[in-house]
Amino acid sequence: MSFSAFGLSDEIIRAVTERGYTVPTPIQKQAIPAVLAGGDLLAGAQTGTGKTAGFTLPILHRLSDRSIKGPSSGRPPIRALILVPTRELAAQVEESVRDYGKYLKLSSMIMIGGVNINPQIARLKSRVDILVATPGRLLDHVQQNTLSLSQIEILVLDEADRMLDMGFIRDIKKILALLPKQRQNLLFSATFSNEIQTLADSLLNKPVLIEVARRNAIADKVTHVVHPVDRERKKELLAHLIKQHRWSQVLVFTRTKHGANKLAEFLTANGIQSLAIHGNKSQSARTLALAKFKTGSLQVLVATDIAARGIDISELPHVVNYELPNVAEDYVHRIGRTGRAGAEGDAVSLVCIDELKLLTGIEKLVKREIPSQVIAGFEPDPRIKAEPIKNGRGGEPRGAIPSRNKPKNQTTKKPAVKKPVVAGFARPTTNRAPAPRRAGGRGH
Ligand code: AMP
Repeated sequence: MSFSAFGLSDEIIRAVTERGYTVPTPIQKQAIPAVLAGGDLLAGAQTGTGKTAGFTLPILHRLSDRSIKGPSSGRPPIRALILVPTRELAAQVEESVRDYGKYLKLSSMIMIGGVNINPQIARLKSRVDILVATPGRLLDHVQQNTLSLSQIEILVLDEADRMLDMGFIRDIKKILALLPKQRQNLLFSATFSNEIQTLADSLLNKPVLIEVARRNAIADKVTHVVHPVDRERKKELLAHLIKQHRWSQVLVFTRTKHGANKLAEFLTANGIQSLAIHGNKSQSARTLALAKFKTGSLQVLVATDIAARGIDISELPHVVNYELPNVAEDYVHRIGRTGRAGAEGDAVSLVCIDELKLLTGIEKLVKREIPSQVIAGFEPDPRIKAEPIKNGRGGEPRGAIPSRNKPKNQTTKKPAVKKPVVAGFARPTTNRAPAPRRAGGRGH
């Protein structure tokens, strides 16, 4: 099947062909006709599946199709709104809109926080057909009366699960209230929690359902490995692995912003060019670091989960979990950065004794045991005991009941530990307590 089979306009096909796409991805095969038909859509797809073109191409087609009733006179209003959770994703989506629409007379705009609002206000005075925005800044504009959403015909909520994780639900509801009732709604989410289902039920009208990858599936071309190591020796082991394997483009995940900074400093001091990106960095610093990493001039990018969300680097070969994520689903999101579009990749996790419960949770989620390999010279010291994991905000140990909800006289039980099953560590036999949700915030 080729792109021309969808009946997309010649201008769109030309842009897609120039981009080098010949065959639509599975999500595109299903989403493009569904969106062209004009109905609502609920799509389960993660980054890396080609979902952006899956909604962008048919939106461009619909907005440029003169046979579909458009605005009558005066400056055309904003007709499509694409809401995304992070600034990085907004930049990538808007770039795609511009690229796929380069032979059309449509105009797009990015609206994100962390940058001066005035140029955005000025930009809104000229034609914008498609707006790609993060919720916080969009509401700032609404408050300043610089933006009207009254003519929106198509709404996209991209990475809706992440928007909810980041605490954007109230903002989303406020935005929905500003849109005309008659419109097309497209909801994309990598996972389907009850919260997403509730949002979908309230938002979508008889949606077409599409699910490409199995829920919480991970790419088959990715090799997963766990290296057991003591918590204090992780830095050293990471530097050793990067040097030994001569990895040239490595995305490393840490749990905290502070941890990301410290690690990037350590690696750089050890001759490995590294930068950290997270919510406390300015937008320009984040954009610059990402650009350097993409072009290959930066060897290591250290990122927190939210900052890395939506990073789109084709064929990223190595992803390292310097620390396992607190929420098992984030492992899937992290690993989604490698082995994309059929390329091979490896996902390396440095796991200390504190993280065994997190590892068990991840293995349950991905329905496989991740092979464990001890690196010579970095064997874990069996005398070191597990310690509670701090979440970076001076908060409670992972898996503990938050104190305000904790029933009196209850203590946090340590997991029962069986003798070694996997090389390097004893693995706990108890099931992981559900990890608390990450606190939201717009700072990322
Ligand atoms: P996305 O899931 O939208 O973030 O896209 C993931 C990557 O796949 C991006 O680098 C796209 O440029 C690329 N891509 C999207 N559609 C296709 C296609 N039909 N053929 C090849 N690559 C594609």
